[in-house]
Amino acid sequence: MESRTYTADAAPGDSVTVAGWVHEIRDLGGIAFLILRDTTGKIQVKFEKDGMADDLVETGLDLHRESVVAVGGDVEEEDRAPTGVEVVPENIEVLAEADPELPLDPSGKVDAELSTRLDNRTLDLRKAEVQAVFEIRAELLRSVREQFRDLGCTEINTPKIVATGTEGGTELFPITYFGREAFMNQSPQLFKQLMVGSGLERVFEIGPIFRAEEHNTPRHLNEATSIDFESAFYDEHDAMDACEAVVIAAYEGIAENCQDELEALGMADSFEVPDAGFPRLSYEEVIERINATGALDEPLVWGDDLPTEGERALGEEIGEHYFITEWPSEIKPFYIMDKEDDELSTGFDLMHPRLELVSGGQREHRHDRLIEGFEQQGLEPEAFEYYTKMFRYGMPPHAGWGLGAERLVMTMLGLDNIREAVLFPRDRQRLSP
Ligand code: ATP
Ligand code: MG
Repeated sequence: MESRTYTADAAPGDSVTVAGWVHEIRDLGGIAFLILRDTTGKIQVKFEKDGMADDLVETGLDLHRESVVAVGGDVEEEDRAPTGVEVVPENIEVLAEADPELPLDPSGKVDAELSTRLDNRTLDLRKAEVQAVFEIRAELLRSVREQFRDLGCTEINTPKIVATGTEGGTELFPITYFGREAFMNQSPQLFKQLMVGSGLERVFEIGPIFRAEEHNTPRHLNEATSIDFESAFYDEHDAMDACEAVVIAAYEGIAENCQDELEALGMADSFEVPDAGFPRLSYEEVIERINATGALDEPLVWGDDLPTEGERALGEEIGEHYFITEWPSEIKPFYIMDKEDDELSTGFDLMHPRLELVSGGQREHRHDRLIEGFEQQGLEPEAFEYYTKMFRYGMPPHAGWGLGAERLVMTMLGLDNIREAVLFPRDRQRLSP
C-alpha cells in the first residue's frame, strides 16, 4: 500500500489513506466514530449518517473490533478528537475481518492471564504497553551493539548445535544429529574464548542459549538470549568495567530514544540511568552482609551458593547494581582463573538488586592448569580437545562475561516475570507458539 499514511503523520488539510485495526466503534446516533489504530497510534474517523453515503456508513458501523481496514478521506482539525484531528471518510475497504469473539481484548479493558497473553501473542502485542516492551528490547540491543563497537569489539556468531556442554551436564538438551548425539549449546563460552586467541582479540555475540533448567521460576527460561563479551589482554577488573559500560549504555539508549514507550509503561518519570561506579563487594563481604540481614534461617558459610532470598535481602539494602567478586574457586566453573592462592577465583557476578544479571571472570589460559580444571570438574578433557589444543598455540590472558538480555529488560522495566520480555518464551510447559 504505497500511499498509506501513518495515523501519527495525518495532518489537517491532508488527503490520506490510513490503514490499521478497528480499535473501537462508538455509535452516538446521528454520528458515529471509528477509532483506527496502527503502529504509530490512533486516529478518529467520523461518520455522519445524514451527510454520507449509506453503504459507507453501514460498512463502517458493521465492523467488528480488530478487523483490518483502509480508510481514505480528508483530515480535519477537531479539538474534541483524542489526537486533535479526525478523518472524514470517502471510502473504506475491509482488508481482513476479525471474528466477533476474541481470545484476548487488545484494548486492555479486560485483564488477561500471562498464559492467555502468551497463547495469543499477536493480539497481546497490539497493546501499547506490551509493544513498548519489545520496542525497548530492540533499542537495548541496538545501544549495546553500539557500545561494543566503541569498545573495539567484533560481532561473532557461533554454533548452537554442539558436541559437548560446558555448564553442567544436567542442564543440556540432547538432540539427534544425523544419528549421533548432540546438544543445544548452553553458552558460547568456549567459542568466544577461542576467538580471543584468533586475530579478532575482542568479540561479542548476541544469541540464544539453551538450558534444560529443572525449575520453573519467574527468572529462568529454557531458551534465553545471551549478550556475551570476551577480550584478550583483559583481567577481571577490565571485564567489569566493560560490563558496567554496556549496562549503562543500554539504559542511556532507552532514556534517549524510548520516551513514548516509557510513557506507555507509566515509567516516563521514574526511569533512571544508573550511576557509574557500581560497588564491587567480595563474596566474603557479601555472605557476611547477607547473614547480618537475618533473612536466612541458616547462616551462609564459605563455599555456599547465594540463595535467592539472601540475594534479595542484600539487594534491598544496597539498592543499586553491584558486583560480587572473589568467589571461592570451588563454586565457579573450570574455565575461570584462580587467584594466586587457589582458594579464590577471578570470577564475578553483576547483580541487580532483584537478581543476577551477569557472570564473568578472567579465564584460565594456561594449558596445563586448564586440563587440571576439567578433571576437577569431572569433565573429560579429551571431549574438549578442539578447545584445549588451541591453548598450546598461543592463547593470551583474557576475560569476559555473559549477560542475560531478558533479565536486563526485566529488571530495567520492573517486569514481574521474565516471560514478559520474550515474544514466544520456552519453558517447561511452553513449546508453542
Ligand atoms: P542463575 O544462577 O540465576 O540460574 P546462572 O549462574 O546459572 O544463573 P550463568 O551460567 O552464569 O547463569 O549465565 C550468565 C547469565 O545468563 C546469567 O547471569 C543470566 O543473566 C543469564 N541466564 C543464564 N541462564 C538463564 C536462564 N535459564 N534464563 C534466563 N537467563 C539466563
Ligand atoms: Mg551465573
